[in-house]
Amino acid sequence: MIQYSTLSNLECSETGKLFPVDELRNLSPEGAPLLARYNLQVAARTLRPDYLGGRRADMWRYHEVLPAPSEADVVSLGEGLTPLVAAEWLGARLGLPRLFIKDEGKNPTGSFKARGMSTAITMARHLGVKEVAIPTAGNAGGAAAVYASRARMGAHVFLPEDAPGVHKVECVMAGANVTEVRGTIYHCGAIVAKQGPEKGWFDLSTFKEPYRLEGKKTMAYELFEQLGGELPDVVVYPTGGGTGLVAMWKAFEEMETMAWIGSERPRMIAVQAEGCAPLVKAFKEGKEKAELWENPDTRVSGLRAPKMLADFLCLRALRESGGSAVAVSDEAIFEAQREAGNAEGLFMCPEGAACIAALGDLRDRGTIRFKDRVVVFNTATGFKYSDLVSTNVPVMDPLPE
Ligand SMILES: *Cc1c(COP(=O)(O)O)cnc(C)c1O
Repeated sequence: MIQYSTLSNLECSETGKLFPVDELRNLSPEGAPLLARYNLQVAARTLRPDYLGGRRADMWRYHEVLPAPSEADVVSLGEGLTPLVAAEWLGARLGLPRLFIKDEGKNPTGSFKARGMSTAITMARHLGVKEVAIPTAGNAGGAAAVYASRARMGAHVFLPEDAPGVHKVECVMAGANVTEVRGTIYHCGAIVAKQGPEKGWFDLSTFKEPYRLEGKKTMAYELFEQLGGELPDVVVYPTGGGTGLVAMWKAFEEMETMAWIGSERPRMIAVQAEGCAPLVKAFKEGKEKAELWENPDTRVSGLRAPKMLADFLCLRALRESGGSAVAVSDEAIFEAQREAGNAEGLFMCPEGAACIAALGDLRDRGTIRFKDRVVVFNTATGFKYSDLVSTNVPVMDPLPE
């Protein structure tokens, strides 16, 4: 018989201590992120690459390793199974003929945050939550608002006042309570941490909620399926809180346990903005944790994350994979965004474009080689950031009749 989910426990990422999954949890008692664990022996009987053909065409096709107790519990808008686009023109220019872009902009809400909120809200509803709260740079708040609305929950979203306007709009349209904060996402987080317990809101903050990671890890399962049963040589990922990186790393481990793959792993490369690069700094200095980045200064909102709760998990994934961490300037990011649009017709978000901007250097330094199969993550659609693009086109009057 197919077991819809084989979820068994939550495990503290620092101590390895196990906790039951039938009650609401945020961080472990030690203050570390909790990771979902499954009975992978059972999952492996029915979750097999050659059995996936007839399954639903979204991320819930991997339901054995996702947390919903049954299909009826799933809160979904069809997230996942986004296209893996061959970027031949861009690749040719960069000397990387096997370059692909995983276009997460095709998700509901226009960003990959939809994946994580689908799993988080599914479990929150299952465990009886009525109201959720989230600090956000933008996309996570939008996705939280939308999925909460589908689950008939109240949502309270706190975002920096300089976040792109579209994020406020999508939250308001989904019926969420939105508050602008004169500060960074870090300050928003402090407000949620203080007000949440007083008001009975369940905190959905990055890594303080264990199941967002589970939705995001499906990106790795999809790469394997879309590359015909292989993993890429290199994954280049725009890193804010680091959930995507940690989630994919976790997925590779599950895939190995289920005998989908062996011990091989892609080299994981984190890209940040020069004006907010706590992970790059820690990586270069050989540290195990990242420090708070004072005064983040970048126009790329998804990369404006000065403090990372799961820094140690990110750094471990980068190092164990033989990967790297690099920072690029805002100027290079917006230039790369234009170049990707011109070369591939793909309107990338600035975060995704940051990865494109990093490729030339990575190639020159030999971190990425000519023969490598490289996957860049475009984590959102560029349409959500159109206010950041200046067009400067001519204007003309109608012709005389
Ligand atoms: C949230 C976000 C990121 C950073 O994601 P993490 O996986 O938490 O590092 C990158 N790009 C966009 C567009 C985002 O919304």
